[in-house]
Amino acid sequence: MRKKVCIIYTGGTIGMVPSEEGYIPRKDYLADQMARMPEFSAPEMPDYDLVEFDPLLDSSKMSVGEWNQIGAAIRDRYFDYDGFVVLHGTDTMAYTASALSFMLEGLEKPVVLTGSQIPFCEIRSDARDNLITAVMIAAQGQVPEVCLYFSGRLLRGNRATKLSADELIAFDSPNYPALAKAGVRILLSPQNIRPKGTELRVHLFEPVQIAVLKVFPGIRFQLFEGIITEGLKGIVLEAFGAGNIPGEDNGLLQLLEKARENGTVVVVCTQCLRGSARIGTYEASAPLQRGGVVCGYDMTVEAAVAKLYYLFSQDYGQAQIKAAMEKDLRGELTDPEAL
Ligand code: ASP
Repeated sequence: MRKKVCIIYTGGTIGMVPSEEGYIPRKDYLADQMARMPEFSAPEMPDYDLVEFDPLLDSSKMSVGEWNQIGAAIRDRYFDYDGFVVLHGTDTMAYTASALSFMLEGLEKPVVLTGSQIPFCEIRSDARDNLITAVMIAAQGQVPEVCLYFSGRLLRGNRATKLSADELIAFDSPNYPALAKAGVRILLSPQNIRPKGTELRVHLFEPVQIAVLKVFPGIRFQLFEGIITEGLKGIVLEAFGAGNIPGEDNGLLQLLEKARENGTVVVVCTQCLRGSARIGTYEASAPLQRGGVVCGYDMTVEAAVAKLYYLFSQDYGQAQIKAAMEKDLRGELTDPEAL
């Protein structure tokens, strides 16, 4: 029987058209173009249904509400399709992929996010290949995880990050190998793919308050004290190298103390694209250790943010959330013992 894929179209460059103020998504435009693509009638292609979001969004406008909308759309159609493709803008695709990986526990089918750097309406567009290959991968059903297909590579969603604003190879997965490569043939790397789940459980997110704070030379943490309120649930601290921060006279310890009193979880990730935060390697990370932070190891900032949203949307206490942040839940973090 012919396979069936559900394509959830949320917006992004892939279906955008020029306007006086720059590219914008246009309702029905991509659906019309796809209906005219001869590729979709080829025998090796699955049948597809397109679910178009209203309004279609530039992904810079995506938030927790839209993540929930995508998760619910998959949940409601889960048993009707062999796999799912989510068409999405590239700007926040890695955040959405990370969020969906936590939201969709126990996946048995592929959920493949893709988009393009050049709109479908332009002659040199990369939309066609990204769309067709993502649909084929979703139909094959052999990658039961949330993943991101772009320019010839299938990456784990919560390991991916946007690298380039203008190259066609827009994404990379710096701390985890590709799940598949699409050259002349689509070659899967089964050893990198997560095992199939047994039953889907969907955990929608609450719009809790999360902050990302990037450390830089000369930072005065006192400036940020105002954001440390009881309402702030988590902070991702992007530290230097292996998790290092500037000297002790800049207000960091007071900030961490206030965060601790408020129950805010502080997660330390590295600013480096590759490698892992390892608090305690250098004396320059000792204040963090004393401040009771948790280590994000080799998680991307996108994954750490999404994981905080996920954990704070569950019925967990602070200690449980801190422990879970340092554990691998969906393939987002390499076991620190193995690093
Ligand atoms: N601004 C666009 C978006 O993220 C960029 C893209 O799709 O490539 O929606």
